[in-house]
Amino acid sequence: MRKQFAVIGLGRFGTSVCKELYKLGHEVLAIDANEEKVNEMTRHSTHSVIGNATDEKTLQSLGIRNFDYVVVAIGDDIQSSILCTLVLKELGVKNVWVKAQNYYHERVLEKIGADRIVHPEQDMGIRIAQHLTSEKIVDYIELSADYSIVELIATAKIANKSLIDLDIRAKYGCTILGIKRGEDMNISPMPSDVILKDDILIVIGHKNDLKRFEEDGM
Ligand code: ATP
Repeated sequence: MRKQFAVIGLGRFGTSVCKELYKLGHEVLAIDANEEKVNEMTRHSTHSVIGNATDEKTLQSLGIRNFDYVVVAIGDDIQSSILCTLVLKELGVKNVWVKAQNYYHERVLEKIGADRIVHPEQDMGIRIAQHLTSEKIVDYIELSADYSIVELIATAKIANKSLIDLDIRAKYGCTILGIKRGEDMNISPMPSDVILKDDILIVIGHKNDLKRFEEDGM
């Protein structure tokens, strides 16, 4: 079933969330107080509306309660971000994801019931740092404080070996979730599958185990 999303605040972050959801074929309502920002988004959203998202009546009249997810991407104006989140939760929106500007903003958002708090700048900073420090890391997703998924480029050291030969799970406690080879994606690798140089391995595990595997195992 197609999900319904609303994105409030069309700065760089909100705009990119909105465009991507729309590209993925979802229904997206874009809301901003700034007319120009809203006009820019008409081509990249199902509906775009000019409005003050801290105003309960405005949100109610848009039927915001019926949306599966509402993303609050109001950045600098922390007061509006908090007020908007509060109104959304009071109106009964199930999933409210909010972009936090700083630690105190996050604490307040937690207290008023934001379902997920995101820090795009910090997350991106971590990913870029991972790229910079290891040529083998293509991408990095933090799942929790301890667990992550990384995409690693297969080196010559592990090339032409099968997963059973490499025995990564027993040796490093990490699991290979998938293997990308050019446009092909093997999402349920078999023990007998052989890795080729420059394949991209999608690996899940504890951060320490992933680091051990990346540094010593390949
Ligand atoms: P980025 O770094 O992603 O560009 P930012 O955090 O700097 O974002 P802002 O420039 O603060 O984001 O943009 C947030 C958007 O939210 C602006 O377009 C602004 O018009 C909009 N906005 C702020 N307050 C409200 C409000 N009460 N109702 C609707 N839109 C709002």
